[in-house]
Parts: sequence; C-alpha cells; structure tokens
Amino acid sequence: MKLTFVGAAKTVTGSCHLVEVEGLKILLDCGMYQGHDAERNQNPFPFDPANIDYVILTHAHLDHCGLIPVLVREGFRGHVISTRPTAEIARLILLDAAHLQEEEAEREARRAARRGEPPPQPLFDVGDALSAMDHFSIRIEYGRELALDRGVSVVFHDAGHILGSGIVELRAGGKTVAFSGDLGSWNRPIVRDPSPAPPCDLLMCEGTYGDRPHRSFSESVAEFRDAINTVLSRGGTVLIPSFALERTQEVLYVLYELWKRGEIPRSVRIVLDSPLGSAVTRVFSKYSDWFDKEGRELFAHPENPFRFPALSITRSVEDSKRLNHVGGGYIIVAGSGMCTGGRIVHHLRHRLWREEDGVVFVGYQARGTLGRAIVDGAKTVRVMGEEVAVKAGIWTINGFSAHADREELLRWITGAQAGQVVLVHGEENALESLAQGLSASGIDAVIPSPGDSIAL
Ligand SMILES: [Zn+2]
Ligand SMILES: [Zn+2]
Repeated sequence: MKLTFVGAAKTVTGSCHLVEVEGLKILLDCGMYQGHDAERNQNPFPFDPANIDYVILTHAHLDHCGLIPVLVREGFRGHVISTRPTAEIARLILLDAAHLQEEEAEREARRAARRGEPPPQPLFDVGDALSAMDHFSIRIEYGRELALDRGVSVVFHDAGHILGSGIVELRAGGKTVAFSGDLGSWNRPIVRDPSPAPPCDLLMCEGTYGDRPHRSFSESVAEFRDAINTVLSRGGTVLIPSFALERTQEVLYVLYELWKRGEIPRSVRIVLDSPLGSAVTRVFSKYSDWFDKEGRELFAHPENPFRFPALSITRSVEDSKRLNHVGGGYIIVAGSGMCTGGRIVHHLRHRLWREEDGVVFVGYQARGTLGRAIVDGAKTVRVMGEEVAVKAGIWTINGFSAHADREELLRWITGAQAGQVVLVHGEENALESLAQGLSASGIDAVIPSPGDSIAL
C-alpha cells in the first residue's frame, strides 16, 4: 500500500490523498483549495483521473469534495463512497459552488473583454456539478465494513465534525490506514462525539487547531449571548456570518436555547438569510435520527431550533434586501462564513460602518478573506468594490469550532494504537506545534509536503 499526499499537506484546504494498492487507486477526499491557496485549484491533478477507481469522501465541506466535479470532467469514471447525508449535502454544496464560479467567471469575462482578452472559464459549472453527482453511487454506514475490489475494504466511524462526517479505516493486504478526515470537538450540539481512532499501521490526522485550545463551548455560548445583548441593547442589529453547513444549524440551536430561556430578548427577530443554509437545514431535519441524544430529543418536538416563533427564513432576494432598511432588534444569520460572497457581503456593506450594529464571527477565517481582514482589526475594508469603514462592534467566538482543538487532538492521537502518525490539514506552524506536543508522549509524527509518499 502506498499513500501520496496530494492536497491539504502543510495547509488547511484542498484535502486529497492518493492510496494505491495492487493497482487499485483510491482518493481520500478530492477537495478544493480556498483562501490564499485558491489558485492551486488551477493546477492539473498529479495523477490521471481516469485511473482513479474510488473517491472515499469523509464529509461534504468544499475543501474535501470541491474538486470532484473537475475530477469527473477530467475523466474519472469510478465511484464516490460517502454516507447518505454527505451525498445529499455535497449536492447542495457543489451546485452552490458551481453557481458562484459561473457568476465570478461572467464578471471576469466582462473585464477580460474590455482588455481584449479571451474570457476565463469557471473552475466548474452547474453541468459539471450535476455530472459529479452521478458518481455518488456507494453509500456507507458507520461501523459496517464495505468490501471494494482486490481485498481492500473500508469502514467509517463517526468523526463528530458535521452531519454525516466520517473517520476512514482502510484495510488492504494486512495493513490498515486510518484517516481522521476533519475531527470534531467533544460535547457539541447536534453531532455525536468523535469515535476513537481504530487500531492502524498509519494514522493520518488533521491539525487545523494543532497549536490552539478552544474556549469551552459553554463559555463560548455565554460570550455569544453577551455580544448579542450588547448590540441589541444599544439599538443595533447583529450580523452572524455563518458557514451554511453545520455552523448555521449549530447557531440556530444555540439561539433557540437562549431565546427559550429568555437569555436574549423574547422580542428579537432572528432571520436566516441564506438559501444554501436553509437548504442544508432541511437535510439536517430529515436526518435528525443521526443527531446525538439531546439533539434527537429536542427535534422530536414541533417547536425546535429550526422552527420557532422568533425565527424566520428569507425566501427571496427581496426579503433579504428588506433587511437593509430595518433598524435594530434583529439577528441576521447569513453566508458565506468567511464573507467571501453570499448575502452577508450585502449586509456588511450596509452595516459595517454603523457603530450601533455588531458582527459576531463564529467560524474560522482563512488568510486572504474579507472575514479575516475584519477580525484582524482593519479600519476600512473593500466590500463589493467600495471602501467601507469598520465601526460596528466585532466579536470572534472561537469555541463554536467544528474541529478538535489542540488538547483534543493530542488526546485522540495518543489514545490510538497507531504504528506511525502523519499530520495534515493544518497551517505548517499548527502542525509543527502539534508534532511537538506528540513528541512529549514519544510519538514521532511526520508532516508531509505535497507530493510526498509513504509506502506501507
Ligand atoms: Zn470539514
Ligand atoms: Zn477540512
């Protein structure tokens, strides 16, 4: 068995690893690069997509599934293996990404035309995304071994990261490789706690927060509540840039609990202004039997975090635009999570310069994004081609992370029976810090560069 690190090596995004065993070629994820790495999406794959037999998809985040449409367009004829929720959510995520790229390419085409240059093509279009979905042909369930060809088999374990996310256990020729995918954090709403790592010869683990602890979830909820109350009490409106997948549902969950307990004003109007977020929320409702115990109990009631009197969901662009004219008393949850597009950008343009309003960040902000610039304390930012002063209150709540923090990663890895440990999916300093932490427990972790291989 040979493992080659294609993407998310010494960086967070672009998760993709090639496993070769007896001529069988399997990709673990085929994700898109985002933020400052985005231009790497233009590079050709360092393998022939036509020769790939399977893609094992850990979960539906774009940095794990986002290049599957390109893979299919470039000749992939194999099967994508995923859980049922992952397949349904990936469809929404890929179609949304295709729309965004088509729009972006159209804008660029007008600029290119003025310069007398040929129009740029989108990375993939809606047709490519739909073709990709035809390959999502194999469903996998947690804890049930799935036999592939040539004696290779795969088992999924709940990664507790987002709905449907999996830890991959790949067995072949007497060897086992385990891949954390993105590993969740413990004691969070909706998702279950991550499963322990299976015994393996090689454990490949993510290290997004390998250098940082998270604040505890309950402390984060208190911070979140206080930020909201600060803004509402001065007559402002709160903007929450939120990733459509998992974070939006988690934010609604927390807002519902705060509202129900009267910890935020009962009169507050909460608006989910995200077409993608609403669509993903519907998939979550459908799979509420995949939630943890508390989640299943809560969602057994007709009034629940996705359906309660203070919450409304915008249906149209007009509904969204109407929010520009409301004064205070609102909480607007909108995508995209890093403010790189979507309706949040419009809301930021209308509110970032207003002292009474507030922006509460609840997710990771990659380098090079508008969200990161605001979080890093920029006095003015460019929003939709316009300079906007940052006068609104800015909060960053870091304990809502869907990723294990440093302590959780150390505990999970040191608790595993693993022959060797490889660290991926993290900025280099985060991975180095995690490796240092592991060396204290006698574990010598490897941090591969893109293109590196390990033979088992
Ligand atoms: Zn993820
Ligand atoms: Zn990821």
